[in-house]
This record gives sequence, structure tokens and C-alpha cells, in this order.
Amino acid sequence: MQSTHLSSSSLIHEGKAKQLFLTADPQILRVRYKDDATAFNGQKFDRLLGKGVLNNLISAHIFEDLANFGVPSHFINRVSDVEQLVRRVDIIPLEVVVRNVVAGSLAKRIGWGEGCPLNQPIVEFYYKNDDLGDPLLNENHIDLLSLASAREINELREQALKINELLIRKFSTIDLKLVDFKLEFGRQPDGILILADEISPDTCRLWDRKTNEKMDKDRFRRNLGGLLEAYQEVWNRLNKVEDA
Ligand code: UDP
Repeated sequence: MQSTHLSSSSLIHEGKAKQLFLTADPQILRVRYKDDATAFNGQKFDRLLGKGVLNNLISAHIFEDLANFGVPSHFINRVSDVEQLVRRVDIIPLEVVVRNVVAGSLAKRIGWGEGCPLNQPIVEFYYKNDDLGDPLLNENHIDLLSLASAREINELREQALKINELLIRKFSTIDLKLVDFKLEFGRQPDGILILADEISPDTCRLWDRKTNEKMDKDRFRRNLGGLLEAYQEVWNRLNKVEDA
């Protein structure tokens, strides 16, 4: 058994929603999902007891599902309520956002109302940089900053669109509309890019198909309340389909 001292000393990274720990295997890390909720680049903060458990369950479920459809990720397995083992990768400092419906920053940027459907998905890249407030980048900026090669940008776009197709289908089976979501990718030691980070209601906008009720982190961003209940409902629906 690992002592508290050992596990805290093996902490190698702490983000807003997760902690990363070393394991005995240098190629494998342990991710611990926290209960912390943050928005607006950390300016809004709360602790919502149980969020870590739900995001760990949901994210693990989705990564397993994607793997079954031929999309590998860093995910290995879930080892506790709040922890999963993942392959160690070098995270590319880009947030890859895919959108099917206008919401959030896109609504502000183009002046269209939230909820307008897009006739084809939009892929966007944001620079993962808190000091700069995660700005939107185009391919020239990504090249200038040497964040990814032109070939890798194409690969990121293709993988993101494939994941979008699979997730739209997955969520529609549980009566959820996939409005938009954010992905992160990592480079393996052999240079191959794989999906990493998490896929959860913290990183996706999910609306109930019939009522358009928001079932995601917008409940926290917009002070709507009921975040845990919404995440629990997402998990119940995912889990029910698996049981069926
Ligand atoms: N997103 C995320 N982390 C971020 C920024 C965005 O997971 O740091 C997700 C967000 O939950 C949404 C999508 O990416 O599903 C698009 O977010 P948007 O650009 O509209 O920004 P926001 O409205 O969250 O500021």
C-alpha cells in the first residue's frame, strides 16, 4: 500500500480539475479527478462534492467506448472512484474544440444566437496558456509557436471530427444533444498522437434532446444550480444503456 506521504510526493502536476501522480511504471500515470469546479480562467471557483467521482466514471466510460470504435486514448483503466491509470504522453498545448451548435464563445465571436445549428461541424484550436487566457489560434499561429506540424494539425482535425461523429451518435442514444466539446491530445514517445485528458460534462456542452436543458458545466458558469444532479443524470443514462 502506498503511504499518504508517498502518494503526495509523487504528485507531478495539479490542474484545475485533476491531479497527476507518478506510478512505479514510468510510462503510466495516475489521474485523480478533483471536486473543484472552475470557470473563466479560474476566476470562479467552487468545490462540488461528488463531481470528481462522476467525471471519472463518465470519462472512463467514454474513453472505453471510443476505444471499442477504434479511437485509442491515453486511458488504461479506472482504479478507484476518483482515479484512473493513463499512458504518459506529452500533452500538445492546444485545446481542440468541435462545435455542432452555436454556444459559448462562438456565439460572442460571430453574433449568432445560442442554439443555432451549424450545417457542418467547426473545429477550432485554442492555445492552452492561462496567462494569455487561452486565445483562439489559426494554423499560422500554431506554426509560428511550433506547437504542432501541418501534418499533425490535419491529424488533430481528422481525429476530432471522427470523435465528434462517434460522440454525437453515443449521446443521441441517451437523448443528449452534443453542442460542442474540447479535446486534448498527447504525443507518444513514438511521435504518434493520441487522445488524452478527459471527456466529461466539464468539457462538453450537452443539452437534453427534448427540453434543451443544460446538463453540463454551463450550470456552474451561469449559476443555474443543479450541476451535480445534471452530471449524475448523464452518468445514469450512460450506465443504463450499458446495462441494457
Ligand atoms: N472548454 C473546455 N475547457 C476550456 C474551454 C472550453 O472544456 O478551457 C469546452 C467548453 O466546455 C465547451 C467547448 O469547449 O464545451 C467550447 O467552449 P467555448 O469556446 O464556447 O468557451 P466557453 O464558453 O466555455 O468560455
